[in-house]
Amino acid sequence: IVNVQSITKSFGTNKVLNDVSFTVDKGTVVAIIGRSGSGKTTALRCIDRLETVSDGRIDVCGHEITSPKLDLQKLRRDVGIVFQSYNLFPHMTVEQNVMLAPRIVLKGKRAEVRERAHAVLAQVGLADKADSYPSQLSGGQQQRVAIARSLAMSPQLMLFDEVTSALDPELTGEVLRVMEKLAADGMTMVLVTHEMAFARKVADKIIFMHRGTVWEEGPGEMLDAPKTEELRNFVGSGL
Ligand code: ATP
Repeated sequence: IVNVQSITKSFGTNKVLNDVSFTVDKGTVVAIIGRSGSGKTTALRCIDRLETVSDGRIDVCGHEITSPKLDLQKLRRDVGIVFQSYNLFPHMTVEQNVMLAPRIVLKGKRAEVRERAHAVLAQVGLADKADSYPSQLSGGQQQRVAIARSLAMSPQLMLFDEVTSALDPELTGEVLRVMEKLAADGMTMVLVTHEMAFARKVADKIIFMHRGTVWEEGPGEMLDAPKTEELRNFVGSGL
């Protein structure tokens, strides 16, 4: 569903991604780990065309991301992305936040969109918060609304960029549980995360990035027996 082939990305003279390749199969979870500045977030953003690559090719859900003819609107329908900051509209209720994109982008009928909104809110455990405003929710609940908002578009692929980094430890668990359930339900997911235990448990494949390259790649067990010194140090540092 995702095929990244030899991509290179520079910001000015800073080569942030250097010949990065990886694939994501349908129905699997891929976790991207690595030190701060190793290029994880940039790699994720390239998949969703929030960044353009300098070289290489990316295909996502049948869209050639690196083509000048890419239909961004169609891509955005197929791929959901959740960031560290939830960016909910404060003056809208939870339900209104979740219904917004399906109403405007998909031009769905109000009743159908509302029904879908309630289904995805139930999926993230917030069925009873539809009429609340974001300010009345905890950070963890707001992040779950942000996930529901993406799910409302029925994406084929979900991207998560350090979605628990801004949360207190006690709120992190509830968001990770929602993501774990999504994975168990068969959603294809790519996540950038510092939650190593979570990555090991949920990911079908872990990609360890180091200095803008895929340094090591494999199933969760690779964290128990790193092949490279860099991964060994990273795992050992507890980051
Ligand atoms: P972190 O865990 O801290 O988020 P990361 O592995 O996700 O790190 P990236 O955010 O991908 O790393 O950043 C990789 C490098 O690219 C860093 O050196 C960063 O300073 C640089 N970089 C990222 N975005 C930009 C930008 N918009 N303009 C210039 N440089 C950038």
